[in-house]
Amino acid sequence: MKQVLWLAVIAMAQQFASASEPISIRANFEGAAVGKIVRVAETHFRCGVKGESDQDGRNRQANWYYFSVNGAKDQALTLDLVDLPGEYNYRPNRGAVTGDTLPWYSEDNRNWRPIETAEYQPDTPLLRIRLRPRANKIWIAHVPPYTNQQLQRLLDEFKSLSDLRQQIVGRTAQGRPMLLLTITDERAPAAQKKVLWLMFRQHSWEAGSSWACEGALRFLLSADPVATEMRRTAIFKIFPLSDPDGVARGGVRFNTNGFDLNRNWDAVDKTKMPEIAAQRKAILDWVDAGRRVDLFLTLHNTETSEYLEGPPDAEGRYRSLMERFFKLLSETKTFAPARPPRFAEATTTIDKPGRMTVIQGLYKDRRLPAFLIEQMITRHPKLARQPAPEDRKQFGADLARAMWRSVTQ
Ligand SMILES: [Zn+2]
Repeated sequence: MKQVLWLAVIAMAQQFASASEPISIRANFEGAAVGKIVRVAETHFRCGVKGESDQDGRNRQANWYYFSVNGAKDQALTLDLVDLPGEYNYRPNRGAVTGDTLPWYSEDNRNWRPIETAEYQPDTPLLRIRLRPRANKIWIAHVPPYTNQQLQRLLDEFKSLSDLRQQIVGRTAQGRPMLLLTITDERAPAAQKKVLWLMFRQHSWEAGSSWACEGALRFLLSADPVATEMRRTAIFKIFPLSDPDGVARGGVRFNTNGFDLNRNWDAVDKTKMPEIAAQRKAILDWVDAGRRVDLFLTLHNTETSEYLEGPPDAEGRYRSLMERFFKLLSETKTFAPARPPRFAEATTTIDKPGRMTVIQGLYKDRRLPAFLIEQMITRHPKLARQPAPEDRKQFGADLARAMWRSVTQ
C-alpha cells in the first residue's frame, strides 16, 4: 500500500514537472533560424521555415532551419515543416525541402544523425517528422550546422603552426572580419610554387562546405607525407568562410543587405556587398602583383545535384585542366558527379547586371581558371547515405589533393 502511494506521488510529481516545463522550440543561439511556430496539439507543432529573399524581395529560398526542442524527452513529437515554396533564378518552385532532404538531429549540438523517416506532402507542401527525443533538449537542422564559433575553435587549434598565416582582408556589412588563410612551407622557395585558391561557404545554409573546409585544413596542416610535399611545392590561399554574418544569423544565401555573394561579381559595390569587395580585391591584388593562380575553386551544396563547372571559357584554354581535375575528383569516394564537367555560361542571367558568379567574374576580370563544385545533401550514390560531417571532411582532404595533382602531375 505504501509503495503504491509512493508511485502515485512520483507520477504526480512527474506530471507536475512536465506541466511546469511545456515543450518549447527555440532559435536563440548562433546560426539558428525558425519561422512562425503554431502548436497544433500538445506534442504536435507546425514550424515555419523562415526563408530569405534578395535585395529586391525576389528569389526566396527557404532551406535553412536550425532550432532546439526543449522539454520533450520521451514524448511522441510531431513537427511539420511548412512555408517551403520559393524561387530560384526568378523561377518559382515548391521549395528545396522535400522528402529527400531529411533533417538531422543532435542530442548535444555536436554529433548529428539523420532522421530516418519523414512524410512529405507535396501538395501543401509539408515535411512531417516524428521522433521521441531521448534527451530533454535536442537540436534539429536541415544539414549538420557549422558556425563561426566552430571555425574559430579550429583556428585556435592551429595557432602554433608556422605553415599557416591568417590575414583580415576586409569587414562584413556587420563588421565581422573577412579571413584569408595562407598555407605553405615558408622555408621552401616561393618562385616555383603553384598557387591553389579555395573559397568556402559563400552561401550560409551550405554548412557542408564548411565541414569540407575543416577537412582540407586538417589535412593540409598534417604531418601526412603528401601534405608535407604539397606545402613545399604549393601555396594554398583559403577563404574559409565567405558570409560570416549570414552564418551568425542563420541565413540562407544572401548577405545582410540581401545580396547573393555568388552573384554580383560583375557589379561589386563595397557598401552593399563588402564581403565580395574584400575577396575580389585580395585576388586581383595578388594577380596584379604578377603572381599566379593555377586553380581556383568555390565549394557549394545543392539539394540533389553534384557536379564540376569550369570558367566561361569559350576558347577552351582550360579544357585539359578541367578534364584532369574532374578525373581526379571522380576517383574519390566522396564526389559523385551527375554529369560531365562543363564550362559555365558568361553569366547566370543574360542582359541583367549583378548576375555573375565568382567564377564568371574572375574569368571576365583576369581570365582565371576558376571552378565551382556543387555537392548534394540528399542520399549520395557512392556513400549510400546522406553525407555526414565525416564524409565532408574527407572530401575536403580529397579536394585539396586533387587540386594539387591537377596542376603538378
Ligand atoms: Zn551555394
